Formats: sequence, structure tokens, C-alpha cells
Amino acid sequence: MAAGLLDLLLPQRCVGCGLQGAQICGTCLGALPRLGGPRCERCCAPTAWPVRRCRECAGRRLAFARARSAVAYDEVVRRFFHAWKERGLRHLCVAAADVTAAALEPPSEPLVFVPPDPERRRGRGHHPAEALGQELAVRWNLPVLALLSRAGGGARQRGLTLPERRANVRGAFSAARSPAAVVLVDDVYTTGATANATASALRRAGARRVEVVTFARAVRGYTVTTKA
Ligand SMILES: [Zn+2]
Ligand SMILES: [Zn+2]
Repeated sequence: MAAGLLDLLLPQRCVGCGLQGAQICGTCLGALPRLGGPRCERCCAPTAWPVRRCRECAGRRLAFARARSAVAYDEVVRRFFHAWKERGLRHLCVAAADVTAAALEPPSEPLVFVPPDPERRRGRGHHPAEALGQELAVRWNLPVLALLSRAGGGARQRGLTLPERRANVRGAFSAARSPAAVVLVDDVYTTGATANATASALRRAGARRVEVVTFARAVRGYTVTTKA
């Protein structure tokens, strides 16, 4: 409620350039760094030429068949996420879904979303991954299934090293009985640890093929400041 109300009351300023009038202006939306170039077929990391596995995902046991993302996580995308998640600006979720649907071939399997951290959900009053899943479901004309839940524990990922992140999320999720093929939606792909842990839970629950779709993806070489 509070987030939606603030959305109406606060003057709208573009998260990219500060221009008044919209939460993100057309120019900044158009300039978000699309991951349209050569990339890894498996994990969507940008590469010099198209590859089936890359340095980032080779040698890892991945529970998902492939991951696809629309934009690289750069400084503007970081601010976009901050405004979307912490201030609950709904138009940014719509923009994220528009960009994602325009960038990716539509899937044909039901969508599932990464479940919220209950504490964060209480704090925010909304859940970005679920909202993005709902918006994409409308565009792709697919059902959304709430199959995943947190098994408990699972401290926040932020500030953890890569091995710590992987250990932290292992076993952190459980899933209700899953169809044979599903598409997992999350707002951002960082190390793939969450995607992998949730895909594992879906596989244990009967999924034979899990694809991952996210709006943004962390990419080496894009500088992002830690604080606004
Ligand atoms: Zn702008
Ligand atoms: Zn890869």
C-alpha cells in the first residue's frame, strides 16, 4: 500500500538521468545495455563469439538447461533496481517486463518465480520476482505457478563470497510437484547460485527441464558503485 501511495505522491524522476516526468525516460530505457551480442548459450555471459559453455559456467553442475537475460547490470540498472525494489515503483516492473519480453524469444512453458525472503517481503510489501513473473505471463500468455518456497535459513546473499553464496543457497528452497518443463523467473542473475538452487528444487519436484529468465544479469567489466 505504502509503496503504491508513494508512487503517486512523489515527483517522478528518471532513475537514469533525473529528468522529471517518468520513473525511467524513453532515452534511458532505450540505452539500457541489452545482452544482444555473442554470448554463452548456457548462462548468457557475453563472449567474443557464441559458445555453448563459457569460463563462468564450464565445470559447474547446473540444474537449469539455460539462462537468458535481457540487460547487463550496469550503474543505471543498479539504480533502476534500487528504485523498483526499495521504493516499489510499479512502472519500473512494467518497463523491466517490456524490455525482457522484447529481448527474449517467448517460452511456452509455465512460469515459476524465485520466492521472496519473508523478512524482505514484509519490509517491502511486494516481491519483485513475482511481479516480473506476472507481467511476463501476461505478455507471453502463460500461467504462473507458485511452486517454490524457502526451506528456512538461507541468510542474505549480499556481501558473501562466491563459495559462500553457493553454500548458503544449497538446500534453501523446496518445491511443490512441478510440471516436466518450467521457466524460472527472477529479477537478476548474479552468480547463478540462486537460479541453480531453485532449479535443483524444481528438478527434485519432478521438473525435467528448467530454463531461467531474468531481466538483468551481472556481467564482468560493467562498473557499478556500491552506494548511491
Ligand atoms: Zn532518463
Ligand atoms: Zn556460460
